[in-house]
Amino acid sequence: MTAADVLDEKTTLANNLASVQQHILHAKSKFDAVQTVSLCVVSKAQSADRIRAVYEAGHTTFGENYLQEALNKQEQLRDCAIAWHFIGPIQSNKTQPIARHFDWVHSVDRLKIAQRLSDARPPELPPLNICLQVNISHETSKSGASGEELLQLALSIKQLPHLHLRGLMAIPAPCEDFNAQRDQFRQVRQLFEQLNQQGLLLDTLSIGMSGDFAAAIAEGSTLVRIGTAIFGARPTRPPSTD
Ligand SMILES: *Cc1c(COP(=O)(O)O)cnc(C)c1O
Repeated sequence: MTAADVLDEKTTLANNLASVQQHILHAKSKFDAVQTVSLCVVSKAQSADRIRAVYEAGHTTFGENYLQEALNKQEQLRDCAIAWHFIGPIQSNKTQPIARHFDWVHSVDRLKIAQRLSDARPPELPPLNICLQVNISHETSKSGASGEELLQLALSIKQLPHLHLRGLMAIPAPCEDFNAQRDQFRQVRQLFEQLNQQGLLLDTLSIGMSGDFAAAIAEGSTLVRIGTAIFGARPTRPPSTD
């Protein structure tokens, strides 16, 4: 890339970020959403340089799915004050580096993983923020705890010393229809409300991606995870060692 291309790309990324932020505000006012909605920019498969461009445009929260890829980029972005969210599937042999190198983990769906994250969280760091991933599509291939096992799991995780249980995360089956999107998110919101009625004090509903964040905001999302709408279509991932 020439210097001019690099400059163009930085401008495009900054414009995309501003446009997504505008769309979030627009959805909030359209649906009378009173909650604060924060943005996690999903940077899987994106280079450290492109993450840096979004960071320099003023954004500090990024989400990654693949551990080794994330650690490589964190190393290149050491000088940036970034809050890193882990949002990908978690293998139990990867819990130690995840507990050390991230501020949030959104994809916890069983107690064993939570216990390992708590055990591995360095005590000098603040507790690791956790969202439980819930499966509302009932597809056996999708990860996530079922609605029935959620309360017990949440109560157990609440006891772990180095974790801070913040809320729920879900990735509903992709669909184009706005009302169908809302129906799926509503189920997550209802589970979230039920847990809070049991005294769980959750403050984070991590729902909404590029194709459905307006529907998620209408259903109470407090944190949207957006990649494509900022970076454009993802390049295919290089083979990795994860
Ligand atoms: C990739 C990914 C996203 C972002 O998806 P886009 O459609 O690119 O916005 C959000 N959440 C999770 C868990 C992801 O894996």
